[in-house]
Amino acid sequence: MELNRAPLWHEYSVALHVHSRYSDGTGSVSAILRDAQASHVDVLLLTDHDTRMGAKDPGEGYYGRTLLLVGAEITPAQNHLLAFFTERLPNAQEAFSDIVNQVSDQSGLSFVAHPNDSGNSILRLPSYRWTEREVRGFTGLEIWNHLSHWSDGVKGIISGFRSLGNPLRGLKYPRAQDLRLWDQLAQESLTPHGKGVVGIGGTDAHAVRVGWRRLSFRVFPYQVSFRTIRTQVYLTEPFNRDLDHDRELVKDALYNGRCAVMAYRHGSEKGFRLWVEVGEQSWPMGSHVTMQPNLHLKALSPVPAAWLVFRNGNLLTTANGNFLDTILDNPGVYRVELHRGSQKWGWLYPNPVYVI
Ligand SMILES: [Zn+2]
Ligand SMILES: [Zn+2]
Repeated sequence: MELNRAPLWHEYSVALHVHSRYSDGTGSVSAILRDAQASHVDVLLLTDHDTRMGAKDPGEGYYGRTLLLVGAEITPAQNHLLAFFTERLPNAQEAFSDIVNQVSDQSGLSFVAHPNDSGNSILRLPSYRWTEREVRGFTGLEIWNHLSHWSDGVKGIISGFRSLGNPLRGLKYPRAQDLRLWDQLAQESLTPHGKGVVGIGGTDAHAVRVGWRRLSFRVFPYQVSFRTIRTQVYLTEPFNRDLDHDRELVKDALYNGRCAVMAYRHGSEKGFRLWVEVGEQSWPMGSHVTMQPNLHLKALSPVPAAWLVFRNGNLLTTANGNFLDTILDNPGVYRVELHRGSQKWGWLYPNPVYVI
């Protein structure tokens, strides 16, 4: 396979959907930043419930190798929304559609958080699922939320203790219904001026204390959460450690779907690329491309993987190795998954390309 036209993206690893003491997390932002640096987090995107206090103290910017950006999680009783790159936060009591519109009116990005959260009666967690399913206008969807998914594994006393002892449990694949929802919403955007539905993955880290009186303990500290789910962003140029410049690059990648959800636990290698190509022309992941003859979906992985290619949510073809090259014969949403390991864990979920 010809690799000379593989686009040269600059890949950074984002830990997003993280709660500090400014809401119901148990760590100070400076302590979380120390953990983030130790965990090779390039960008920490803090999302406390309904507050951007972290932007005041300690403030966005570089802390060692880690860039701190401060968003928020707008938190009504249900329909949680991650809001990024916005100064003023909508009031959580307003209608969900108004909340979404207020973020986009400020040129911010918004992502429906843990859309199929089912709650957990044993952990006394109510369901925080997305119920306002007719609303549109958000940037995308959190297709893999570690905390929400982890709590699915707690079904009784025994599995509860197992899950507490192993916070990385439940990281095999994203929820099937989250991927299905993503595929369905993505197909709605198969129009000439459609905007893709961007998939991201979050930790929902709280380092929460559980237990009873003095027997309480931290379920999992931030460093453990940072090993769960990341969002890799593919930038047009490298960071230059200027806050405004670098923040804009991250925003551009998230807005345009040049990002992939990574199960960091199953491998942290950088260097993934995915693009559509015909002749001399190419388009990156997240793009809308007009149907034409000889359209190839190409990708390369830094490690050998099992590849699954879906068209409109249906499995189209599979492959093995470091490369993928598939002819695209029909319009549709083309989404790729990379699985790896002897158990075939889901590892990387790049954003799709939209062939119209
Ligand atoms: Zn939430
Ligand atoms: Zn959260």
